[in-house]
Amino acid sequence: MTDSEQTLPASTPDLEAALRVAVENGLPATLADLGRLVRIPSVSWAAFDSTHVAASAQAVADLALGTGVFDSVEIKQAQIPGTQELGQPAVLATRAARNGRPTVLLYAHHDVQPPGSDDEWESPAFEPTVRGDRLYGRGAADDKAGVMVHIASIRALVEAAGPDFELGLALFIEGEEEFGSRSFATFLEENREALRADAIVVADSGNWDTTTPALTIGLRGNVTFRLGIRTLDHASHSGMFGGAVPDAMLAAVRLLASLHNDDGSVAVAGLTGSLAGTPDYSEEQLRAETGLLDGVSPIGRGSILSRIWSQPAITVTGIDAPSVANASNTLSPSVSVRISARIAPGQAADDAFSAIEEHLRQNAPFGARIEIDDVDTGEPFLVDTSGWAVAEARRAMQDAWGREPVDIGVGGSIPFIADLVRVFPEAQILVTGVEDPDSRAHSPNESLHLGVFKRALLSEALLLSRLNERTGH
Ligand SMILES: [Zn+2]
Repeated sequence: MTDSEQTLPASTPDLEAALRVAVENGLPATLADLGRLVRIPSVSWAAFDSTHVAASAQAVADLALGTGVFDSVEIKQAQIPGTQELGQPAVLATRAARNGRPTVLLYAHHDVQPPGSDDEWESPAFEPTVRGDRLYGRGAADDKAGVMVHIASIRALVEAAGPDFELGLALFIEGEEEFGSRSFATFLEENREALRADAIVVADSGNWDTTTPALTIGLRGNVTFRLGIRTLDHASHSGMFGGAVPDAMLAAVRLLASLHNDDGSVAVAGLTGSLAGTPDYSEEQLRAETGLLDGVSPIGRGSILSRIWSQPAITVTGIDAPSVANASNTLSPSVSVRISARIAPGQAADDAFSAIEEHLRQNAPFGARIEIDDVDTGEPFLVDTSGWAVAEARRAMQDAWGREPVDIGVGGSIPFIADLVRVFPEAQILVTGVEDPDSRAHSPNESLHLGVFKRALLSEALLLSRLNERTGH
């Protein structure tokens, strides 16, 4: 860390030097607290014992209380829409801003994925274990390390700037992110005032590698639906009428083929994307990570990461048709298809759905009847990188890691981020994280790189310290 100290702004060198010392000296206690959280098997899925999630909420609330900086620390639940059920407990702690300083909302989640099969773990899933430079255990990275980055950066700020700092804080540690954040939207609505912030730090993503920090600036959205294709009123013998009337499978295959160009890129007019610059990622790496067979080519246009981060994709994920075992010489009257599309950041999910629907209706071969239902959409997310919070976050990462952060996208979706954007449109959202490419979140042998953890923690401590001095947001 010492090699980057010369990059600190001259105005607050003592404070930031003190912050670095506080992070370093606090590290053993921070890791011990992280270990205690990992020992609680807080799997939020319905089939698992929810008393563990309650216990981890209590443990996080105790950590928040222990910082001594919050006006209020509560464990709260909200109703899951369309049910009488409450969601899993979240921790909400708030501290009012003073003297016109900004308020920062710090988000992470204390629930975890199920451990999966015991024999695939090299050490027990809920027994925090250090091997080499990594801490192994379910939740060690995703996302109990995110929880501890928030707690420990607040502790460091208290140590360096004193407990009377002026920055406003809202700490929101969710308890059901791994089970679909079902009560998240209700929780936001019910706690809108307490959660209101100028900037939101979502510590639940990853870094480019163990020595290069990243800010996640784009997430693809998604659209899924059922497509029904009908050509005949009833099944007929294929020998009797085949060649004279189209069966539904013929229509379906031709229609589905129209969704892509010959190079495999999406051929739907009105679906947008961008070829924005991306870090290098080779075809060899893509082949290795996906198990692409020898002789089979990748699909799409532009750099490989732009295909995953900033362009749309359409996949057929299921087809209901007669099975091979039950195949008879029959013209199928109807076929049902599940379509899953990824939407590029910058396009509204509803607009993307309309473009796909229009394409399917326009291209239905032989005048086949098209039905579309069971539609589900999730909004993509794109950060406006011109905001002051993004600039501060990048500068903090640069100073903590000694290396410029890269902007990354994520091909998948984090649906709750769309809820945050919708409820708090004025807030700037910073998606940071403690993971690296070897973290294996959700898999056996999940782990946290201890160097990444320390640098992520110092980044956030520097960010909070600088926002604590900021006026005119
Ligand atoms: Zn997570």
